[in-house]
Order: sequence, then structure tokens, then C-alpha cells
Amino acid sequence: MRTVTILIPAYNEEEVLTILYQRLDEVLLGLPKYHWEILFVNDGSQDNTLTLIKYLWQKDKRISYLDLSRNYGKETAMIAGLDHALGDAVILIDADLQDPPELIPEMIENWELGYDDVYAKRKSRLGETKFKKYTASTFYRMLKRLTKIPIQENTGDFRLLDRRCVEALKQLRETQRYTKGLFSWIGFNKKEILFDRDPRAAGESKWNYFKLFELAIEGITSFTTAPLRISSYLGGTISVFAFIYMIIVICKTLVYRDAVQGYPSLMVAILFLGGIQLLSLGIIGEYIGRIFNETKRRPLYFVDEYNGQKSKVI
Ligand code: UDP
Ligand code: MG
Repeated sequence: MRTVTILIPAYNEEEVLTILYQRLDEVLLGLPKYHWEILFVNDGSQDNTLTLIKYLWQKDKRISYLDLSRNYGKETAMIAGLDHALGDAVILIDADLQDPPELIPEMIENWELGYDDVYAKRKSRLGETKFKKYTASTFYRMLKRLTKIPIQENTGDFRLLDRRCVEALKQLRETQRYTKGLFSWIGFNKKEILFDRDPRAAGESKWNYFKLFELAIEGITSFTTAPLRISSYLGGTISVFAFIYMIIVICKTLVYRDAVQGYPSLMVAILFLGGIQLLSLGIIGEYIGRIFNETKRRPLYFVDEYNGQKSKVI
């Protein structure tokens, strides 16, 4: 019998865990041909999430849990989960029921057909503002153009990964993880299935626009050095114009001898160039920051407690 792990990162999800468990349980009842592992990763929750998980763990022997030493963020919680997952396939799912567990049978079907990465693509984004939809789609378009890897639009982390993909992802130990890009980067046979993304069942999204903006920068800087090149092009173009303008200014001075005039153009040039320089420095800084973080070679996370199925399976 093949084992399938359901990996659920959870950060302050006490309000939804019970409903999630019930809905999962129902779905899994319909799939008796597999050995299930439900692996919760408690990402340093401050509420009763861990107590609830432990309660469920006592009730249900399919459940394992991993308690991280603090809140590391979802990306790290996921790799921690992948490191501990035992399944021949791993299904990543959000705790807040925005990813309907009812899609799991279809994922499994496709896995049986031989696909390694069955990802769920959102047909609609219910419960999200127009502005969020717009920013998300613009971002994806930009990222696709800048990077050379096909990054799937409207796709979250909700997917089934074959062991091969899991092992591949486990080898990518970068500290600043942009998992969505990593899924594409590792390749393998991908299959898309469509679904309607529900609004959160309860609780609040942990993302705000500032965090989303940071994630966007993360996405770009971890997959492409195009911004560096853009700033070089920009610098080059501006230098050419500046040179032409310099010649004009010199000629004018020689012909008309009105050297003192030109305060506005001087100001414009200084401010414009200053802006461009700061922007380029900022872009370079982003990359240096990444280099700095990666060269520290810190472990990605620390585990406070792990109660897994290891002994049960082997
Ligand atoms: N999550 C996590 N650590 C965090 C933030 C979120 O493990 O620091 C989990 C959270 O419990 C949920 C999933 O990641 O299962 C998605 O989080 P959220 O719903 O806040 O994000 P959104 O759906 O708005 O993208
Ligand atoms: Mg959510």
C-alpha cells in the first residue's frame, strides 16, 4: 500500500483546524486504498493550534505533527514538513480551507496516471478584492517575462508532489525561499487541475500588502538577475543622453557665452540621476542582501517537537 502525506502548515489556525480535520476525514474515507499520514506543521502559533493538533493526534493515528521552535513563515514551514513527510506522495494544503480537500481524489487519480506534480489552479478568487486580483495578475505577468522558467499563474501551493519532486525540493536549501518558483524550477511531469478558491473559512489571512510586496521582490530576486541588467541599460542610456547634452552645453557656452544660465536643467539632471542611482543601489542591495543571507548557511529551521509516524510505517 502506498503512503500519501497530507502536509498542513498551520499558524494561528485554532478556528479552522477542527473543520479542516472533519472535511479531510470525509475525503480520506473515500480513498481506503492508501496509507495516510496527516502531518501538521505548527509554525510557532501563539494560540491553541498546537493543543488542538495534539488532541487530534491522540484521537487519530494517521496524524503526526511537527512543532517548529518559532514562527518561520509558511515557506519554511513547508520545507520542514517536506523533510519529515514519509509519503510516496505529499499533498500540500492550507489550513484555512481555501484549498478544498475535496480535490484530493482528483489529484490522486492524476498521480496514478503518472504525473509527478498535480497542481490546483484557481478559476476564481472568491473573497478577494479587485485590487488584489489586479496586483497578483500584474506581478505574475512581470515575473514570467523576467524569468525564463514558466511560473504558473493563479496557482498556490495546493498540489500533490511525487516523492521525486519532494526529494528535489529538499535539495534546494536556500534560506529565502520562493517555493512557487521552486516548484516550476525542479520540472518533472506537471498536470493542472482547476478549482474555485473559497474565501477563508475563519480567521484572518496572515498576508498584508506589505508582506505581499516583499514576497514579490523575493520572487523576482530569487529567480532572475534581470533588474540588475535593467539598471545597467538604464545607466547606459542615460549616460549617452548626458554626453550629448554635455556637448550641446559646451557648444552653447562657446557660441553664446552665457555660462551662468541653466539652473533648471542642472537641477533636473542632478535630481533625475540621483534618483536613478539610488534605485540602482537599492536593486544591487537586494541581491547583496540575498548573498549575505545565503552565505550564513544557517539551518532553515529548528524543531521543538516531532511526533511522527516513522515507527508505524517502517
Ligand atoms: N502559515 C504558516 N506560517 C505563517 C503564515 C501562514 O504556516 O507564518 C500557514 C497558514 O496557517 C495557512 C497557510 O500558511 O495554512 C496560508 O496562510 P494564509 O491563509 O494566511 O495565506 P493566504 O491564503 O492569504 O495566501
Ligand atoms: Mg489563506
